[in-house]
Amino acid sequence: MSTDILRNPPARTVQIVRCADYADALAPAFARLLAESTLLDPQTVAGRRVLIKPNLLTDRTPDQAVTTHPAVLRLVIRHLKSAGARVAVGDSPASAANIRAVLKRTGVGAVCEDEGVPFVSFEQEGVRACNVDGFEFAIAGPVAEADLVVSLPKVKSHALTKLTAAVKNLYGAVPGYDKTTLHRLYPKPNDFGRLVQAIWRVLPPTVSLADAVIGMEGQGPANGRPVRLGFLAASADPFALDIALCNILHLKPTSVPYLKGMVDLHKPELAGDQVDVASFEVPVGSHLLDLVPACLMRVAARVLWVRPRIDTARCISCGRCLAACPVHALARPDAQAHGIPVLKRQACVGCACCHEVCPQGAIRMAQSPALRLVHAFHGVD
Ligand code: SF4
Ligand code: SF4
Repeated sequence: MSTDILRNPPARTVQIVRCADYADALAPAFARLLAESTLLDPQTVAGRRVLIKPNLLTDRTPDQAVTTHPAVLRLVIRHLKSAGARVAVGDSPASAANIRAVLKRTGVGAVCEDEGVPFVSFEQEGVRACNVDGFEFAIAGPVAEADLVVSLPKVKSHALTKLTAAVKNLYGAVPGYDKTTLHRLYPKPNDFGRLVQAIWRVLPPTVSLADAVIGMEGQGPANGRPVRLGFLAASADPFALDIALCNILHLKPTSVPYLKGMVDLHKPELAGDQVDVASFEVPVGSHLLDLVPACLMRVAARVLWVRPRIDTARCISCGRCLAACPVHALARPDAQAHGIPVLKRQACVGCACCHEVCPQGAIRMAQSPALRLVHAFHGVD
C-alpha cells in the first residue's frame, strides 16, 4: 500500500480495539489495532518522513486527560522506527501555552528524548500558505513536508464543536497565533467546521490513531472530567473515524459542525470490537447561531450566546485567558494589574479559546437563558 492510496480516496474502515488501561492492556491492544487494520505496515512507512502529531493542547498531566497519553505516543514511535520510517513528533499547542511546559507536564518531551526522536515546534519551522474553498490559512512546514501524518487525537468533548477527535486534531497543523486569528474570523461553529475541512484537504495523507482509553466529557477540551471510554480506534479517514466515535458516544454526527456534509461521503465501515459508551456528556454549544441569517445576527447574538464565566474562587489571575482571546474581550479591572479578568460581553465571539488555556479550570462556557430554553423545549443537540 502506498501513502497515495491512503488519500485517494482514504479507506473508510474504522478499526476498534478495546483497551482497559495505559498499563498492561495497552501494548497488546495497540499491536492488535495495527495488525488488524494493516495501517502503518512497513511497506507503507519504510523510508518515509512520518510526522506524529499528538494532541498537546496545553500543559496538563496525562491523568487530566487533556492531551494524548505519552504511553500511546511511545508505542507509535517504536512501531514506526522499527518499520523503517524517519520519525519526528510535532504540534502547536494553544496560543497561550508555553511549549517547554507542555512537553514537560504532558510527558511527551521525556518520551521523545527516551526514544531519540526530535520534537519539532510548528512555530519555528516555516509555513506553507494555502487558499482553499475560500479560506486563507497557513500550515506548519513540518506538516506540509511530511510524506505521512500520524495523528494521535485524544477523544474529548469540546465547548465549540461538541467533539474533538481525529478531524479537529488536524487543526493543530495551523501554527501558533494563526489559530487564534482564524477563531476570530470564523466564530460560527459551521464556518469553523468548513475551515477545518479545508485544512484537511491540503494535508499530506493522514492515519489517525485515537486515544479513547481515558477521554474527557463535560467542559472539554481542557476543563472537563476524565472518563473511561476503554478503547483505541484507527482509520485512514479522519471523518469516518469521528463519525464512528459519534455513534459510539451517542452523538448525532450532524450536530458536530465539522462533520456536517460529510456523513454520507465518509460513512464508516466498522471493524474489530463492538464498543458502546452509554453516557458521554458534551457541552450544548452555540451551534444554534448557525441557523440565524446573517442580517439577524446582531439581534440574535444578544439573546443566544455562549460565553465564559470565571469562577473567581479558582482564578489565580495568571492572565493566560487574556493572551488567548482573539478579540481582546477579556481585560483586567481598572487599576488592578493582576486582578481577575472581566469580560467585555459585546466583544466576545464565544470561541472558547480562553476556556481551553485556563490552568485552573476556572472558566466554564455558560449558555444564555434563552439558549437554554430553546434547548429544553426543542431538545436540539
Ligand atoms: S472571551 Fe473567551 S470565548 Fe470570548 S472571544 Fe475571548 S477567548 Fe473567545
Ligand atoms: S481565569 Fe484562568 S486563565 Fe484566566 S486569569 Fe484566571 S486562572 Fe488564569
